[in-house]
Formats: sequence, structure tokens, C-alpha cells
Amino acid sequence: MTRDPIQRVAQTTRPGHKRALLIIGAGPAGLSAARAAAQAGWQITVVDDNPAPGGQIWRSGPGAAPQPASRSLQTALAALPHVRLLCGTRVVAAQGTGALLLENAEQAWVQAYGALILCTGARELMLPFPGWTLPGITGAGALQALIKSGLPVRGQRIVLAGSGPLLLAAAASARRAGAHVLRVAEQASAAQIARFTAGLWRWPGKAVQALGLLSTQYRSATHATAALGAQRVEAVQLRHGERDYTLACDRLAVGFGLVPNAELGRLLGCASAQDADGKAVVAVDARQATSLPGVFAAGECTGAGGVERSMAEGRIAGLAATGQAVPQQALAERTHWAAFGKHVAEHFVLAPALRGLARPETIFCRCEDVVFADVAACSGWTEAKLATRCGMGACQGRVCGAAAQHLWGWQAPSPRPPLVPARVGTLGLMAKKPSFTIAPTIDPTHP
Ligand SMILES: Cc1cc2nc3c(=O)[nH]c(=O)nc-3n(C[C@H](O)[C@H](O)[C@H](O)COP(=O)(O)OP(=O)(O)OC[C@H]3O[C@@H](n4cnc5c(N)ncnc54)[C@H](O)[C@@H]3O)c2cc1C
Repeated sequence: MTRDPIQRVAQTTRPGHKRALLIIGAGPAGLSAARAAAQAGWQITVVDDNPAPGGQIWRSGPGAAPQPASRSLQTALAALPHVRLLCGTRVVAAQGTGALLLENAEQAWVQAYGALILCTGARELMLPFPGWTLPGITGAGALQALIKSGLPVRGQRIVLAGSGPLLLAAAASARRAGAHVLRVAEQASAAQIARFTAGLWRWPGKAVQALGLLSTQYRSATHATAALGAQRVEAVQLRHGERDYTLACDRLAVGFGLVPNAELGRLLGCASAQDADGKAVVAVDARQATSLPGVFAAGECTGAGGVERSMAEGRIAGLAATGQAVPQQALAERTHWAAFGKHVAEHFVLAPALRGLARPETIFCRCEDVVFADVAACSGWTEAKLATRCGMGACQGRVCGAAAQHLWGWQAPSPRPPLVPARVGTLGLMAKKPSFTIAPTIDPTHP
């Protein structure tokens, strides 16, 4: 068989195949969208760049069995012959209107759609501070993901620092895996946390969940000021009010909230909006429709708000994208959980002090080794890119661009294709701009 990526997958289909729904992201939003859409009988393809479905919260692996909610959705979808799940597959570019260029480990192809739902979720916000790039330091959710994927942490001393409920969820995962969680440092004040907790009566399930995650090591009004170590992290400096202290540790996990993955929406030309913090989100209407005809968005790419909100939005998007009626109850559910997302955002606002942690020599863009002083001297994101190469490395500014937005309010320019680093063969396919669309033949590795 030829290894040419085009030849290996070519099978012509009609351009803009009317009853074909493409969903990007197999997290809670994407799986819920597929389940709701499936009732309409369309051909549904769900694509996710992770090796298995579940997104962030339902990530499973050697260190974590699939969660019941995820398993039940996946089982239901697996029984439907018109629903296909392609994991380990990512979006590289838009290919004209009504098609995306996709790539997996073996091949690239152009996938046509009649309707598209973006369920690309969110990532963690990382803010630079001295030592933050030392080995042994990860995002809080990233540590959780690594543990679920089998990273051994038994007996290790772990400190978590940053803000938001994800810190507690990650700490619980670390503890279950046998780690000693020395500190969960939450930057929000005790008063903010008290008001957050007092308001949880509106979401009783969340109140119960919060109780289950409580830790004697939890400290409010505390943040990391520096990570110390020669070859890898050996200790973290923490500040509580006016008091600085150091904790020796084997790992430090940091997260300052979530950044919506709105890049694909922007690449396609969907209008963006800004959340309360000024972060770009994919703008949607009451039916989860974006500004582009036939393109919908659901879940945390439209704004961070938790798993239940993502599922409610996914369901609405799946129904609306396939022309089904959206019941009032689905809209009410979304309203209920959107309020929870707002409640979290209001009470975990980042303190101004976190904008002043980096020193001039602190690495700001870890892909291109650009220091903080060089970026801070620029007038905006475009100058920073041109003058320092900040944001031009492998992550394409997903980490440092979000930090720059938080520190200086810089909005990143619209992304350009390819959306992610891609193989040369894939780029060749992108350049070809075919007048017909091609889709993968039934692939034995993705039954
Ligand atoms: C690292 C991390 C860990 C988290 N852990 C928890 C937790 O323990 N508890 C909790 O309550 N909340 C957690 N959250 C919050 C969580 O994101 C949401 O509650 C929930 O998972 C959101 O669901 P979603 O479907 O909107 O997005 P996600 O679950 O993020 O799913 C989006 C999916 O889309 C895929 N994707 C994105 N872009 C592309 C692309 N271009 N091509 C192909 N696939 C793509 C992603 O890989 C991902 O699998 C976590 C968030 C993060 C960032």
C-alpha cells in the first residue's frame, strides 16, 4: 500500500454532505452533542486529539477507570452505527467552506460536513513566576491527567498552588494515588471562599462534592512566589499575607483558572466574545449557533463553566445542529449551570499581586526561551512575536499568549493555518485545496 497520505485515505464524497455532522472534541460537551444529535439519524463523526474520549474531566487511563457518566454516554454512542468516534485525530486547518483538514498518527484527510459543532474545551492558565519552568512543575489539571495516565506519585511530596476548584480536584487525585499533598495554596481570600461556599446551596450536588474534596492543607490568600531547585523543583516559596515561607517538595502543580480553546472558532471566522476576565470565547446564540451558518459551539470553548454546563450546551447544540426542537427543560438546565459557572468566576477572581510575580529574567515563552523583560518591553502581541519570537514555538502561544492576555490585556491575532504543528504530507494536502472532499475509508484502527 502506498504511504502517500492522500492516496491512503481517498474516497470521494459529496462536498458539503448535507446530513453529515462533524463534532470536534469528545469531552462532556462533544459526547452529549453526539448523543442528542444521533436521534436525527445524521452521519456523525466525533473527533478528538486525545487517545481516548472523555475530555479533561472524564479522562481515563491506567490510573483511572472511566467514570460512570462517561461510560454510559460512550456505550450508548458505540451502539449507533451512524456515529463514528475518531480519537488521536486533530484539526489542522479549514479546507474551504464545509470541510476541515484532519490528521492522525498515520494519515491526513479532508472531512466534509453539513454542520459542525466545536466542543474544544479549555486549558489551564499558567502565569510566569521565577522557576516555573523547572522539571517537576506542571499545571494542576495536567498533574491530574498524568496521574490518570499512570504517572507514579506514591510517596512524593506535592504542593498545588493557584486558584479555583480544580486545585482541590487535582489534590484529591494525587492523594488517591498515594502522594503526600503538603499544601493546596488558593490565592482567593478567606472572605471570597466563604462567600463562594455560602452560595453553593443553589447547587446541592456541588456543595456535597466540595465537602468531599476538603483538605486540611487548604490555605486561602496564599500563592507561590518562586520555585527553587537545581535540576528540578526541590522547594516552593509561598506567600500568605505578609509572611513568606518555603516548603520542600518533589512536585509543584500550578493553575490559575481556565482559558477557553477558542482558536479553532477564530480560525474558521466565527465571531468571538470576551468572558468576564477578557478571555476570548466562541460567541454563540441561544441555540449555541456561532456567527457562521451551520457552525455551532458548546462547552468550555464558549466560556469556562463546569461539566454540567458543558453537557447542557452540548445537548442543545446537537439538537439545534440537526434541526431538532430544543426542549424548554434543556434551556433551563443550561441557565442553572451557567449560573454556577458565573458563581465560580466571581469568587475566584485573580488578585492583582499575581501580575507582579515574574522577574525581568524569568522565562515568559518557554517554547522559544524568551524572558519576561523582553516581552514586557513590547507594545502588544504582534510586536512581541515579531521582535522576540514569543508565541512562535510548538504551543503557538497557547500558554504565553494567555498569560500576556491576563497580564497586559493583549488579544492574540487570529490564528493562521496550520492550527497545530503538522506533518509535511499533511501540509501538502492543505496546499492542494481540492475541489472535492475526501474522507477516510473505514479504518480498522478506528472501528
Ligand atoms: C487539565 C484540566 C483538567 C480538568 N479536570 C477537572 C476535574 O477534575 N473536575 C472538574 O470538575 N473539572 C475539571 N476540568 C474542567 C473541565 O474542563 C470541564 O468541567 C469539562 O471537562 C468541560 O467539558 P468540555 O467538553 O467543554 O471540554 P473538555 O473536557 O476540555 O473536552 C474538549 C476536548 O476537545 C479536544 N480538542 C480540543 N481542540 C481540539 C482539536 N483542534 N482537534 C481535536 N480535538 C480537540 C480536547 O483534547 C478535549 O478532549 C479540567 C480542565 C482542565 C483544562
